[in-house]
Amino acid sequence: MSIDETGQYVVEILHQRIFAAVTAITLQSVPVAAKALRNGELVAIPTETVYGLGANALDRSAVANIFAAKNRPSFDPLIIHQSSADRILAYAKEVPAEARLLAAKVWPGPLTLVLPKKKEVPDLVSAGLATVALRVPDHPLTLELLAAVDFPVAAPSANPFGFVSPTSAQHVQDQLGEKIDYILDGGACRVGLESTIVGFPGGVATVLRKGGLPVEKIEEILGHPVVVKTHSNSQPEAPGMLSQHYSPGVEMWIAEKLNVLYPYPSGSAAIIFGNEHQIMQDDRKLDVFNLSPSSDLNEAARNLFAVLREISKADYPVVIAYPVPEEGLGLAINDRLRRAAARE
Ligand code: AMP
Ligand code: MG
Repeated sequence: MSIDETGQYVVEILHQRIFAAVTAITLQSVPVAAKALRNGELVAIPTETVYGLGANALDRSAVANIFAAKNRPSFDPLIIHQSSADRILAYAKEVPAEARLLAAKVWPGPLTLVLPKKKEVPDLVSAGLATVALRVPDHPLTLELLAAVDFPVAAPSANPFGFVSPTSAQHVQDQLGEKIDYILDGGACRVGLESTIVGFPGGVATVLRKGGLPVEKIEEILGHPVVVKTHSNSQPEAPGMLSQHYSPGVEMWIAEKLNVLYPYPSGSAAIIFGNEHQIMQDDRKLDVFNLSPSSDLNEAARNLFAVLREISKADYPVVIAYPVPEEGLGLAINDRLRRAAARE
């Protein structure tokens, strides 16, 4: 970037600071975002999964600001990011062969590896655990940003704790604009679901969170079935995997539990998948949100959080969600739907 361009950004930023003092500055300049991170500021960053709320992972006060902005409890550890497998695995004390294989095949991509951490990663990042979560995200702007800084970037999803994850710069602005400094705008997220998290407790590859990388893909790479550990409220295997999450703030039911509810109140909404879908109808009319008219799970994943967000803005007495096919990305989509509907 030339001095002229930098000057132009500075003027633009001053302008926005004056006229929009209570919102974050949206920009596309990697050098400006890198400078902000070096200064210990918060920058929301685009990734292929969802937008992250980034800060220098080695700067304790910057990391503390992430927790404060999100209202995130300190027992919920953060994922740290860098631009290549070598650069991010440098923060792990040991790297099992299967972790290395997954990293080589998937990164940059929607996979997070949980590995024993080196001392230089602050305990605040790992919530006091002996392990740390590592990822190389797949987005050109963010890869450029990560390459430009000499520290890992801690970045949880850029939403207030417990709410729906953001899949566009505008979503971040709507939810956290008053609390953060910058948003690097990289357009809409290509995958739309958080990363799949894999750890190696007892040396065994274990999926700790279902996400944007299908479990089948992991099994194909490793050549054997993997353990999938579902969360529980009292003893979350991946801390932060609370059953109630992604809350759209309205009463939501999963269709498999509909017997509790049917007939639904008038003016309710339904989340469906595919045009062939049969909605259990009575004579009342439902507002219908179709995650993918062409029954494509990738498209459904991309649309999921935007649909939950739209629903949260309306005033539906009840929202009924129909599970999608339990395969590929469908596992993670159903997981998010169930947690959005969970009551405890
Ligand atoms: P987010 O970045 O908001 O999608 O959340 C990060 C999630 O990664 C946390 O809520 C945990 O579920 C998981 N995680 C991060 N670090 C660890 C770790 N050391 N061990 C297990 N899970 C982790
Ligand atoms: Mg999150």
